[in-house]
Amino acid sequence: MRKIPFDRAWIERTAAKWPTPFHVYDAEGIRDNARRLKAAFAWNEGFREYFAVKAAPNPHLMKLLRDEFGFGSDCSSLAELILARAVGNVGDSIMFTSNDTPEEEFRKAWELGAIVNLDDVTHWQCLLDAVGEDVDFAGRIMCCRYNPGPLKGGNAIIGKPEEAKYGMTREQIFECYGAMRKAGVTRFGLHTMVASNELDPEYIIDTARLLFELAGELHEKLGIEFEFVNIGGGIGIPYRPDQKPMDLGRVGDGIRRAHEELVVAKGMRPLKLYMECGRCITGPYGYLVSKVIHMKDTFRRYAGLDACMANLMRPALYGAYHEIVVPGKEDMPADTVYDVTGSLCENNDKFAIQRSLPKLDIGDWVVVCDAGAHGHAMGFNYNGKLRSAELLMSKDGSVKEIRRAETLDDYFATLDYPGL
Ligand SMILES: *Cc1c(COP(=O)(O)O)cnc(C)c1O
Repeated sequence: MRKIPFDRAWIERTAAKWPTPFHVYDAEGIRDNARRLKAAFAWNEGFREYFAVKAAPNPHLMKLLRDEFGFGSDCSSLAELILARAVGNVGDSIMFTSNDTPEEEFRKAWELGAIVNLDDVTHWQCLLDAVGEDVDFAGRIMCCRYNPGPLKGGNAIIGKPEEAKYGMTREQIFECYGAMRKAGVTRFGLHTMVASNELDPEYIIDTARLLFELAGELHEKLGIEFEFVNIGGGIGIPYRPDQKPMDLGRVGDGIRRAHEELVVAKGMRPLKLYMECGRCITGPYGYLVSKVIHMKDTFRRYAGLDACMANLMRPALYGAYHEIVVPGKEDMPADTVYDVTGSLCENNDKFAIQRSLPKLDIGDWVVVCDAGAHGHAMGFNYNGKLRSAELLMSKDGSVKEIRRAETLDDYFATLDYPGL
């Protein structure tokens, strides 16, 4: 069974103050991991991670990452921009990597001084329309998102970028940088993101190679001196017990060599490396803690939790696997097969299907692992279910509430109706 940084006694103490279900984040785990990430890219002067806010949009986590590690914020919506500003990330500490962007969000990103990363060639004009044609570009950094389309030969990237809605084609990206230069923009970055939950280091290294090569071509043809390339997010985490974490040292080293070969050796100015990871920053360090409230034996054996897919929808949404730990029963054999369910009137509301676990009883605590990214953040209120509290646990086990649980008053707040 997976090792977790708290035990049954800790849950009992904590659940006395914050009833289950709740999400808890392990601050020390997040710190150790952030240190490893920075160490892997220490060779790159100016390396920066922009934490993808959507993964865990909690200002307390964003602030920890900013204050202790200098992480910026990768935003793609108005709310995320406002969260970034609240923790002190403004100016080039915001990467605004949006798509299908409303005008008001372009305006807010511009007002905050964000690095605006355009998803499409037509968005250059949209940005001008939003902020006014007579805007001053002095000092502003602009970026474009590249979609490489079908890739072949000698490349680890096996996804299908040509089926993704994001980014511009080669032709469009040349056109867009050309137009921006003409309008007086002088500072540039280049972005792509072609990975999602990827555990193969070669894939991430190849993403950087792709950008180094394209930056070189754009430099040659348009005379642009890029300041950074941003390889996006998408570094995966080992959700399954047979998977291993990505070797960040190997990624760092591979990208360092690619940078030597494709940038330094070609006489270009060194490029800063940016990334906008979410999942691998907080994912493994967040846990959904819940309790077994019903046992049911029909055609299958069911363990019913007090949590449901409103608290963590990845298993129901993508059939994602999440490890389940039963604190206090770690040493018992996992000899009983369960569907572990929530209470929604949706048959896919299951945290695990046909999973071998220790024999469960009503009142057991059940911990769903790797819920720290795209977990609480994806919560929703279907069936009138409420989103849980978020807690931050320190090294000594002490707990700080970083978001309270929703109440029925929150749920009814948008209705003006007698009796509610
Ligand atoms: C979702 C997203 C990320 C973060 O992805 P992770 O898989 O959480 O690392 C980064 N950038 C953009 C543009 C995204 O859409």
